[in-house]
This record gives sequence, C-alpha cells and structure tokens, in this order.
Amino acid sequence: MTGPTALRDALRVTPGSRVRLARLDAGATFGHDKASAQPVIARQMGRLATLQDKFWAEAKRSVLVVLQGIDAAGKDGTIQKVMEAFNPQGCVVSAFKVPTAEELAHDFLWRIHRRVPRKGEIGIFNRSHYEDVLVVRVHQLVPRRVWSARYDQINDFERTLAANGTTIVKVFLAIDRDEQRKRFQARYDDPTKRWKFSMGDLEERARWDDYQAAFDEALTKTSTDVAPWYVIPANRKWFRNLAVATILAETMSELRPAYPRPPDLPVDLVIE
Ligand code: AMP
Ligand code: MG
Repeated sequence: MTGPTALRDALRVTPGSRVRLARLDAGATFGHDKASAQPVIARQMGRLATLQDKFWAEAKRSVLVVLQGIDAAGKDGTIQKVMEAFNPQGCVVSAFKVPTAEELAHDFLWRIHRRVPRKGEIGIFNRSHYEDVLVVRVHQLVPRRVWSARYDQINDFERTLAANGTTIVKVFLAIDRDEQRKRFQARYDDPTKRWKFSMGDLEERARWDDYQAAFDEALTKTSTDVAPWYVIPANRKWFRNLAVATILAETMSELRPAYPRPPDLPVDLVIE
C-alpha cells in the first residue's frame, strides 16, 4: 500500500515530462483495496477538515482545485464525496459550462478570473479554463493558432495566481473507454440519473481519441512547479476519492495553516 506522500508524488505529472493517457491503467489502485481504503479515506478527510478550519480562520491565502476529466469521469462525484470534509462557508464551487454570449465577448480567462477563491477560501472548479484547449480544440471552435497560444497564456495566468497567494492543485480524472460506456449505460438506466445523460454525450464519446490527444497535450504543457497536474486512475471511485483526499491533505498540510493569534487580548480573561 502506497503511503500518502509517495502516492501524491506518484500521481503528479513531473513538469516537462510527456503524458500519454493511453499507457495509463485507469483501474490502478497502488496496492489499496476497497475495504482497506475506507479508514485511509476517513483519516485523510479528518486531516482535511482540521486543515481547512485553520485555513479559513487564518484568511491569508487561497487554494484552487481544478477538476477536469472526460464526461462521466467523476467530477461531480468527487466534489460531493471529498469536499464533504469542508465547512461550506470556506469552500466555493464553480462549474464552467458552454460560455454565455457575455463570456464569449471577453478573453477566455475573464470568466475564470472572476471565480478564483478569496483569501481563506478553497475554490473548486468543475471544468475550467482548460476547456478552452479541450472541447474548443476538439470541435475547432476557434482556429488552431488561437487555442495553441493558450497553453502559455494559461501557465502565465496560473503563475500570477500562485505569486499572489493561491496554491493550485489540478486534478485530472482518468477513466478508460469501457468505464465510460458502463457509466453512460448506468446513467441511462437509472431514473434518478437519466437527467444527466444526453444523446450529445454519445457524439462526444465518438471523439474519444481526439479528446485523449487534447488531454495529453494539455497535461504535458501545463504541469508546472506552481500548478502541477495530478492524473488520477479513476475507474474505481473509492480509489479516486482516496487519491484526491490524500493529495489535498498533503498539499494543505505543507501550507501549515494556523489559527490567528489576536494581539490585544489580555491573558486569563474571565468573562462575568
Ligand atoms: P457538464 O459538465 O456535463 O454540465 O457540461 C458542461 C458542458 O460545457 C460540457 O460539454 C463542456 O464541454 C462545455 N463547456 C465548458 N466550457 C466550455 C468552453 N469554454 N467552450 C465550449 N464548451 C464548453
Ligand atoms: Mg455532461
């Protein structure tokens, strides 16, 4: 069983290294199994809760979690399960859908920058500015010269956020094609989940290889020291939860958040 620090290191995309998702085993579990994972997840969630309480009280810095992955990779499920550890007051989730006319009338980072977390907050992006080098590329919504310039623009943007006190954690949930098939079928078959399914999802699925190529390039070009990508084998939801909780707990613990010490309070105050 791989411990927390080693697991985080193993999942991180080393800046400059080339990602090829086709070579990844999306069912990998790094020696964990479903039963033994439960106490590990509980421990990491407990760490996260304590760390976030301090982080929120301290209100000096922010954390930005960027979640990407193909349809049905588990972005919503990850938010639901892992973010349970957080006090909702210090945690803001933003989902990025097809841009509105207003958003399209601006540069692609405009809508993103407006949603970055305040000091003390953990911001979670369900999809993000990466869509502008993913779906936009696959569907040729802008010319190649426009989207291909964006990798550098994204790195510059993230460097600016980091230099201003935002710790960026980018999580790519990797499932394989057969797992997506099963999840789509399950969505369709379950009356409580069918609303999530659309025929358009199948058109996107038909472009699987184009998406994988777009993912490979984005992960390769934008994993940096200040904003690394983590590629999570996500066929197994319990391992995905374990991995994401562990990465966040490890990252936040390195920030060493601490409760503020009010400077002007008397010692041994007894309130009558
Ligand atoms: P969902 O995550 O299932 O709610 O779907 C949101 C949809 O919005 C996905 O199909 C994304 O590909 C799409 N989307 C998000 N950002 C963009 C963007 N910048 N340009 C075009 N489509 C986008
Ligand atoms: Mg969808």
